[in-house]
Amino acid sequence: GRPKVVVVGGGAGGATAARYIAKDSEGTIDVTLVEANPRYTTCFFSNLYLGGFRSFDSITHGYDRLASNYGISVVNAVAEAVDRDTSEVLLGDGTRLPYDRLVLSPGIDLIWDSVDGYSEEAAETMPHAWKAGPQTELLKAKLDAIGNGEQIVMVAPPNPYRCPPGPYERASMFAHVLKAKGHTDAKIVILDPKEKFSKQGLFSEGWEKHYPGMVEWYGPDVHGGIIGVDPSTDEVETDFDTFTGALVNVIPAQRAGRIARVADLADGSGFCPIDPASMRSAMDERIYVLGDAAIAGDMPKSAFSANSQAKVAAMTIRGDLTGSKVFPPRYSNTCWSLIEDGDGVKVGGQYAPGEGRISSTSTFISQTGEDPALRRATYEESLGWYAGITSDIFG
Ligand code: FAD
Repeated sequence: GRPKVVVVGGGAGGATAARYIAKDSEGTIDVTLVEANPRYTTCFFSNLYLGGFRSFDSITHGYDRLASNYGISVVNAVAEAVDRDTSEVLLGDGTRLPYDRLVLSPGIDLIWDSVDGYSEEAAETMPHAWKAGPQTELLKAKLDAIGNGEQIVMVAPPNPYRCPPGPYERASMFAHVLKAKGHTDAKIVILDPKEKFSKQGLFSEGWEKHYPGMVEWYGPDVHGGIIGVDPSTDEVETDFDTFTGALVNVIPAQRAGRIARVADLADGSGFCPIDPASMRSAMDERIYVLGDAAIAGDMPKSAFSANSQAKVAAMTIRGDLTGSKVFPPRYSNTCWSLIEDGDGVKVGGQYAPGEGRISSTSTFISQTGEDPALRRATYEESLGWYAGITSDIFG
């Protein structure tokens, strides 16, 4: 029969890989996509939903076209384990899916106890919204209930985590919503375990310009270290002080999604080493790990990166299974962030294998003091990107 590829995870990496393998092999490869949820809400643009720039519906996508247009078998189930000896994926109901090649793009798991007092249960009062869906809607409801003079406290994550500029774009969207209501005496305090963060100069400039006095960022030298949270009192305790929030948004530390770890594909970092030329697991030559779960060198954990990596893996897998031509890999990424209505910034680069890892070959970043017309064009570019990448992922 046809060679079989099983893909676990129907997000930015996995759905792209499934679609490209099925599309470009024109039916000669049997592709099965295993995804836990019937619909996928993108983390990307979820901050714009919080800011009121997008509806929840507009950031939620289904798998119908992957099934009907590309002949992919979409299985709505949780993959519980991988039997690497027999080359099978085990589903929760006992089903075994045999594979010739396996692609894992499970995204991240949150390390709940990386913040003392935080847990899956605590997330019902102190949402993380770092996986999109009900958590995102909960965060939005809590944001919309903030009154003037009240405080939002965000606990930012340590490196490495998905979407390096994401927490700071989110803080900008919090401020946008509050300012638009005239709640300019509300405050957003970001408690960061990091000494610096992505696009810091651009965000700092934007916060000062659009939201004077509303957004305060404290690094470890100011708070001394984040000790923990108490969901019963809405408090965040640090070495030097205790912060209380009418809304506390905790974004804990992260590691590769469980399936990649139980398949023994992760190293001590909690993420999965890969061959930089193909995204093939360093631990198993029949398995590919994409996106947030992979150790992708200089590439940040982003949907753009995952989509780009998926195309390289798809090309390599088709080469392995059908003998189609494999070209030298090229990777790219851009992360856009919206600071205020029409004020968009970006950072990105091109990447290639080098020195045993994925290395950046060129980079670019928006500049402080840019013309508002350029910032608006950057924002509009991000709208085009979202439309393009979601149709590239979901067909
Ligand atoms: P995901 O997209 O998370 O997909 C993983 C999928 O696997 C999920 O659907 C999950 O249900 C499924 N799954 C996991 N385990 C199993 C299993 N065992 N069985 C079955 N299914 C399973 N990126 C950008 O490029 N641009 C942005 O502007 C941007 N903004 C962001 C804003 C925020 C607030 C956040 C949190 C992230 C943002 N990102 C952005 C990052 C982006 O969302 C992730 O990097 C990207 O989704 C990673 O893709 P992935 O395929 O690795 O994982």
